[in-house]
Amino acid sequence: MKAVVWHGVGDIRLDEVPDPKILEPTDAVVKITRSAICGTDLHLVRGTIPGMVEGTILGHEAVGVVEAVGPAVRGFTPGDRVVVTSSIACGACSYCRAGYFAQCDTANPNGPSAGTCFFGGPEATGPVNGLQAEYARVPYAMTSMVRVPDAVSDEQAILLSDVFPTAWFGARLAEVGDGDTVLVLGAGVVGQFAIASAKRCGAARVIVVDGIASRLDKAREQNAETVDFNAEDPVAVVRELTGGIGADRVIEAVGVDAERPKTGPAAEQVEQWADRFEQERRQAAPDAAPRGDQWVPGDAPSLALRWAVQAVAKAGSIGVIGVYPPGFDGFPIGEALNRNLTLKMGNCHHRLYLPRLLDLVVSGTVDPTAFITRREEPVDAVSAYESFDRREDGWLKTVLEVA
Ligand SMILES: [Zn+2]
Repeated sequence: MKAVVWHGVGDIRLDEVPDPKILEPTDAVVKITRSAICGTDLHLVRGTIPGMVEGTILGHEAVGVVEAVGPAVRGFTPGDRVVVTSSIACGACSYCRAGYFAQCDTANPNGPSAGTCFFGGPEATGPVNGLQAEYARVPYAMTSMVRVPDAVSDEQAILLSDVFPTAWFGARLAEVGDGDTVLVLGAGVVGQFAIASAKRCGAARVIVVDGIASRLDKAREQNAETVDFNAEDPVAVVRELTGGIGADRVIEAVGVDAERPKTGPAAEQVEQWADRFEQERRQAAPDAAPRGDQWVPGDAPSLALRWAVQAVAKAGSIGVIGVYPPGFDGFPIGEALNRNLTLKMGNCHHRLYLPRLLDLVVSGTVDPTAFITRREEPVDAVSAYESFDRREDGWLKTVLEVA
C-alpha cells in the first residue's frame, strides 16, 4: 500500500509499504477513505517535536471503513464506517474509566508513565504507525474507533478525529461558562473550532488573535472579534475591548511553532523579550552560540503563553491545547501566580468528547466542513505538506487522499 513515511527532519516521502495486519485480538484494520495533515504533523516534520523513528507512517486523523477485526473486537463488523481517534486508549484501565483517555495506563508500549499514545508520533508515544496511508492497524479498536452515522459525511467526520475534540477540550480546560468573554489565541483550524466550542459552552463574546488575514476573515464568519498581531498589541486591544479587565477565559491554540509578529507594537515587544531571554541564556551558558538573527525555537512559543497570562482577567483561567514538547519550560509562572490564574493543559481525551460532538454534527449545529480549504490528490501528499508548512493563504486544513 501507499503511505506517507517519515525519513528524517524535512524528509517525508510517499512510499510503498507492507499492508498492516491484525497483531492483537483487540486490533482492527481500517481501509482509510480520508486522512488529513495537522499542525502537529508539521512539528514532527520540522523537528520542533523530536524523537521520530525513521520509517514511521505519519498522520493521526482518519475516517475509513473497517476491513478486519480481531477476535476481541465485539462491537464492529467489517464494512462499518468509522472515525479513528488520534490518541489511542485501552478503555479498561482506571485512567480510561475516569475519562483521562490521553493518559491511558495500557496503550503506550513504553509503559504507564510514558504519557499519551497516538498514531504517527515520536518514539515516546509508541511509536504506532499513522493514518496517512491506504490502510491502518487500529489498536484497542473498541475505544479508538467511533462509528459514523450515515448522515455525517467523511469530510465532516475527519474533523472529529482530532481537531474538534481538541478545541472542545480547550474550552473545557479554560472552564468556559455562561456569559464569559473568551480569548482564543491562534485562528488556525483548531482556533476556529475553539471559537465554535466556546460559544456552545456559553461564551458571550469571543476575541481571537492571529496574524493571517484569511484566518481572521474566517473567524469573523463566526462573529468572533478579531485582532491582527501584525498591526496591534493584542494584550492592549483585549484590555481595551473588556473595559480594562481582560478576558475571563483564554484558549491557547498556538503551541511550539508560534508565528512571530513581523510588524507593529507586538513585534517590538517580542524583540525585547527575545533580547532578555538571550541575555539570560548567555548568563546561564556563556559558551552557547549566539542567537543571531535566527528565531530560536523556545523563544517564540513563550509569546502565546505570555499573551494568555497578560490578557486574561485577574483570577481568570487558561486552557492550553497548543502543543509543547517535553523540555519546553518557557511559562511565566511568577506573573501567573501573582494574578491568581488557573492554568490547565494537556493532550485531548478524544474518545471522551467524540460521540457527543458527532451529535452536534448530525443535528446540524456545527458543520465542520466550513474549515476544510484544500484537498490533495495522492501524488501531491508531500507537496501538500510543503504548502501547509508555508501557511499559504487559505490553507486552514488539508485533507489527503492517499489511496
Ligand atoms: Zn486505558
